[in-house]
Amino acid sequence: MKESEYRIPGASVTVHGSHFADQIPSPGGLKAQVDELERRLQLEHIARVDAEAVAKRGLNDLYESQRKLDLLQRVATAANQSGSVDEALRFAIHDICQFTGWDIGHAWRRAAEGEHLVPTGIWWARDPESVKRFMDLSAEMSLAIGEGLPGQVLADGAAHWIVDLSCDPNFLRAPVAERCGLRSAFAFPVKAGTEVAAVIEFFASEHLHRDDALLQLFDQIGTQLGRVIERKRAEEKLVYEALHDPLTGLPNRALFTQSTRMALRRCRRDPDSLFGILFLDLDGFKLVNDGLGHAAGDQLLIECGERLRSTLVEAERFAATVGRQWPRWVLARLGGDEFTILLESMESLEQANEIAGELHKALEAPYVFDAQEVFVGSSIGIAHGGPHYLDVTDIMRDADLAMYEAKAEGRGRTAIFDQAMHHRADVRLQLENDLRRAVSREQFLLEYQPIVRLSDTALLGFEALLRWRRDDQAAPLQPDDFIHVAEETGMIVPIGNWVLQEACAMMAKWQHGIGNRTPAIKMSVNISPKQFLQPTFLAQVRSALDRSGIEPGTLQLEITEGVAVMDPRRTAAQLEMLRRWGVRISIDDFGTGYSSLAYLHKLPFDTLKIDRAFVVQMDGDPAMQVIVKAVLDIAAFLEREVIVEGVETEEERRQLIALGCTAGQGFYFGRPMDVGTVERLLERRRRPRDPIADAA
Ligand code: C2E
Ligand code: MG
Ligand code: MG
Repeated sequence: MKESEYRIPGASVTVHGSHFADQIPSPGGLKAQVDELERRLQLEHIARVDAEAVAKRGLNDLYESQRKLDLLQRVATAANQSGSVDEALRFAIHDICQFTGWDIGHAWRRAAEGEHLVPTGIWWARDPESVKRFMDLSAEMSLAIGEGLPGQVLADGAAHWIVDLSCDPNFLRAPVAERCGLRSAFAFPVKAGTEVAAVIEFFASEHLHRDDALLQLFDQIGTQLGRVIERKRAEEKLVYEALHDPLTGLPNRALFTQSTRMALRRCRRDPDSLFGILFLDLDGFKLVNDGLGHAAGDQLLIECGERLRSTLVEAERFAATVGRQWPRWVLARLGGDEFTILLESMESLEQANEIAGELHKALEAPYVFDAQEVFVGSSIGIAHGGPHYLDVTDIMRDADLAMYEAKAEGRGRTAIFDQAMHHRADVRLQLENDLRRAVSREQFLLEYQPIVRLSDTALLGFEALLRWRRDDQAAPLQPDDFIHVAEETGMIVPIGNWVLQEACAMMAKWQHGIGNRTPAIKMSVNISPKQFLQPTFLAQVRSALDRSGIEPGTLQLEITEGVAVMDPRRTAAQLEMLRRWGVRISIDDFGTGYSSLAYLHKLPFDTLKIDRAFVVQMDGDPAMQVIVKAVLDIAAFLEREVIVEGVETEEERRQLIALGCTAGQGFYFGRPMDVGTVERLLERRRRPRDPIADAA
């Protein structure tokens, strides 16, 4: 094998070949061939250099994209891991400045209320000293939509780039920026959904040309940061919902318990600090809820919550103006119509009472539903905290007990917890249990009090009054001892039904037996609000009438003003139906509740019963006589009858007759009496002009 070597400038080629030497051309031909080879090699060289340049450029681009991708990834990761939106913004501003080499970055946040941007105070600056004035100026600003660079981004929802700050008429901070050596700026939006939640701005000390690729990258970063805001908002919403009452927006039981637990802890560390809990329950809320419907009930709770809140806020504000120590407070709705207030760092124990007084006042003012006024008060129990309370539930229970005592004393009261309440609570619990069994044990009985014509004491009828022969107690209990418990626990419904059936049955006996020889007398039966509002109430009355077979006109149902006020339309419809059957209706205890004369005339009723309270005071107080006369005038105008309650003396009878009263009831004519006494009375009544008082 033969080997030859040709040297060409810039290249070295070794030609191998077994028969190449045999084909060696002539010297002229050889040169042409070498030139050709050289030319081809040079072309190859150029092509290779070009290819290398392309490859290098590609690599650079790749590197740039990789850097951008890294930045995006870092921001995304930091955003996901950050504990707060501020932390994510701080990280992003720092990293973007590192990436771009720009000198400062700053974030604006959209104000919670209103359409403007406020500074967050989140900055990064390469040399903070040199841009301090610019930062100070920005910190004082608030930008409306379209105002300044950030406002522009807020308006458009898109990134903006300013090459020369001194030439942009909308760049409000230009003079200070110039003095701080800032030349170019760009800003981009952070979007939560479609809403611009924040704007981040950057400044450079050189004039830098708009870089669309960069703006695109920041658009993506804005989206990443926006996700943090969305996530934070969702988290905050969840936490808020877990700790607040959706109806009133007030703290709920969980948050209240948490706050009270902390107060207890603080109290253990500092036993001199005074704290207390107010437990507030609305009076008569159930009547609104049952009578006017749940929507009205909800509305009432919202308004009560708002009244309580604004009362506390205003009292606190006032205390501040007079330099008075005011407790820290937390107002919560526990559920239903129960509200609680935690008071911490009180000036004195008396302050809790004072605040309770303010809250009572706030809730007492009338509420208006469908142009109708409703009155709802509250009962408040106070428990004063102290290191002796080991658990939140203990102090809550005591405040609750005190509230029950307040309620038992009547509407609109406040009671402060004391140890004796525990005992009374036990007693009440026993009463509730006994009451529950009383119907089946047949422990109830009725007494009957005569209702008479004032002029000659002729018998007009009886009012059936409930008594309870409780276990082995000698004297039966009077309604005042148990009827409120029956009412609160709902047991009044079966008890009231029993009264209705029993009174009607008794009336039938008297009508068919003794009474049919004398003019018809009427039987008055008290109906509790709860009983009246039962959907089955009309059916109960119907059944009492049918089973007893009495003349419906001899049954007179006594309802209180409270029921009449609750839901006038429904009440009117029910009463209308009862009257269509022939049953008569009385408004009992007239003048003691919150009656509205405005719609009284629209109510279908037959008789007004003037409460005993007016008669008792009539003697010493001439104003009472005027009031009684006014009620008589109203009744006369409305063509309704009047029965006056609680006549105890001949003098009262005389005065009432002089005022124009015709019918009455009271100890003067006869106390409530048992069946035997009534029957003897009816027997003797056959003799004309026999005064009832004699028989009783
Ligand atoms: P009320 O319906 O106003 O009944 C009249 C009350 O006044 C009765 O008290 C009666 O004994 C008392 N009274 C009558 N005349 C005089 C008087 O001259 N002087 C004084 N000091 N008192 C007089 P009682 O029986 O204790 O009943 C109290 C209340 O309990 C009743 O007031 C009524 O609201 C309620 N009640 C009684 N029975 C029932 C019932 O069966 N169902 C319901 N829901 N409530 C009832
Ligand atoms: Mg009555
Ligand atoms: Mg009465």
